[in-house]
Amino acid sequence: MTASPTINGPAAGASPAERRLLRTAAPQSGFAPWKDPSKQPIIRFENVTKRFGDFVAVDNITLDIYEREFFALLGPSGCGKTTLLRMLAGFEKPTEGRVIVEGKDITDLAPYERSNINMMFQSYALFPHMTVERNVGFGLRQEGMPEDQIKARVNEAMSLVELGKFAHRKPHQLSGGQQQRVALARAIAKKPKLMLLDEPLGALDKKLRNQAQFELMRIQEQTGTTFVIVTHDQEEAMTVASRIAVMNQGRLEQVSTPGEIYESPQSRYVAQFIGDVNIMEGKVVSLPGDGTVEITPASGDGRIFKAGACEGLFVGQQVWLSVRPEKFRISLDPPQSNVNVVKGRVDDVGYLGSISHYHVHTEAGNRVTALRANSSHNVERAISWDDTVWLEWPAESAVVLKA
Ligand code: ATP
Repeated sequence: MTASPTINGPAAGASPAERRLLRTAAPQSGFAPWKDPSKQPIIRFENVTKRFGDFVAVDNITLDIYEREFFALLGPSGCGKTTLLRMLAGFEKPTEGRVIVEGKDITDLAPYERSNINMMFQSYALFPHMTVERNVGFGLRQEGMPEDQIKARVNEAMSLVELGKFAHRKPHQLSGGQQQRVALARAIAKKPKLMLLDEPLGALDKKLRNQAQFELMRIQEQTGTTFVIVTHDQEEAMTVASRIAVMNQGRLEQVSTPGEIYESPQSRYVAQFIGDVNIMEGKVVSLPGDGTVEITPASGDGRIFKAGACEGLFVGQQVWLSVRPEKFRISLDPPQSNVNVVKGRVDDVGYLGSISHYHVHTEAGNRVTALRANSSHNVERAISWDDTVWLEWPAESAVVLKA
């Protein structure tokens, strides 16, 4: 899946790739409990497997999630993310392994015994005959909380999601986005330590979805609750999450911050799932021992690609070089160097206002994409269809992938 070029939100005018870079440049300052060995996770999946008959939906997952994280389970349909979330909520029981929350093994507890966990469902599951206010207070009333306390909690939750003026409406008198906020308010009103959200913004259109992502982030920060969200939308995960687990066929492919996932994917699967990427195949020809690796492209045209080496490389190994479109420097003139350069012909040009993207058919037969900012300082003439171009990139912006 690649990112859509539709632009909303605070970085309006920027491409999805640029917005990702903006985020990478300004990561959440200092919040990284997963790097602190003295910190205990609030959630631990320990060798968790879930089988439905012969089918393995979740395959031996071990994963720690920390207090106050906004954690995203990301992957294509059917990869097992909802099953993992449902095991945390207690709606599914692991076939093997343990689920531990706040140091306590909760694997065998029923959902209603997990009072510190609340789940917001994709369908919202609002009661149509109840007003917004009654819907939001429903769980508290079930628990037998006194009415005056319910009123205070409901008001607090409704003001957090800015629903106050709709308190007396019924769900059918609300838009999709407003209904989603009611479901969120109802979940928040119970003040859980853990909020589980299964595709919470799935029913919203692109523009509302983008707004709602920022609302979710604000609410998560204000309440200090740990959020675990399931999404198949990589842009959504990149926008909201402190860390992302990319899942593939019941397994974890990579668990990292959005910036690391984008800049340092560990496999072609992750690189291709997160945004636009160009993958070029090659063979390791030299490991000079200075932390770099030299690769000959599969096209065998005598050129050399240089990049930072990763662990476990050997000469002769088949590898893939991943270069993001914005890392290419596209030019009408041949560069001085012969390293990290490919020559090609422009197949297609897309103008997106502040940037243009170029689809280039390389001499080696690959189709790659380059981005270029449309700055008034560009001295070259505009690059157009059928132009012969050179794409060059710095060694440090290419990632070597072994799988
Ligand atoms: P989506 O984004 O489409 O919801 P997902 O990644 O959340 O997908 P899951 O709902 O976790 O995927 O399902 C993982 C796999 O397990 C799927 O192939 C699904 O068909 C299968 N599965 C889920 N629940 C059951 C069940 N109760 N019985 C049999 N198979 C199931």
